[in-house]
Amino acid sequence: MSRASARRRQVPATLAAAMLDTGRLMSETRLSPGRSGNFSARHGQGMVITPTGKSYDALSGDDLVLVDGEGRCEAGAGTPSSEWRMHLAIYRARPDCAAIVHTHSRHATALACVHRPIPAFHYMVAAFGGSHVACAPYATYGSERLAQLAVKALGPRDACLLANHGSLALGADLRAAFDRARDLEDLAAQYILALQAGRPRLLSARDMKIVLKKFRTYGVPDMEEDAG
Ligand SMILES: [Zn+2]
Repeated sequence: MSRASARRRQVPATLAAAMLDTGRLMSETRLSPGRSGNFSARHGQGMVITPTGKSYDALSGDDLVLVDGEGRCEAGAGTPSSEWRMHLAIYRARPDCAAIVHTHSRHATALACVHRPIPAFHYMVAAFGGSHVACAPYATYGSERLAQLAVKALGPRDACLLANHGSLALGADLRAAFDRARDLEDLAAQYILALQAGRPRLLSARDMKIVLKKFRTYGVPDMEEDAG
């Protein structure tokens, strides 16, 4: 990471406001403990990302870091999150993704620590764009290797687990990515409970194909409301 010649550019005001809103949500919901996790939004060839070492509830617009497509800082008083390579690699691989939320949320991380992907134990697994949520193999945090493993584990889907680390959720905007990270955490908690209650009966490939088609046609229902 190198600082570009001058910090001439500014994080656009609407994008900064959306980033600070997401910071408040992360803080209020305690989705990721302490200062863990980070989030970003696509901007041009690069992104706006949270700084390292700052509490979500203490974030200000000046802390946000603008990173260009080559990984150079263009604006922001902070140092970008150590996971900036992972975020940038995902934006490069997934043109449909405009925002990324990375958490160490409790239940998703617990599954990641036993390298357990989330299979089709519930039809809402399809809300993440496939018939399972994969778990990327372990690699050191902040490394290019972790970035590449995360891209591979995501594939065309909108979420994955990161072994011995946490989770990733993608969205068309920051709110969608945050909601998806929260939904993934809820689903991970349900899966752990189901494993404790017995042997989860998995849905068939055909069942999941039908749900995926319904979601594509009618949209994904809200997990907190009547999901049908
Ligand atoms: Zn992390």
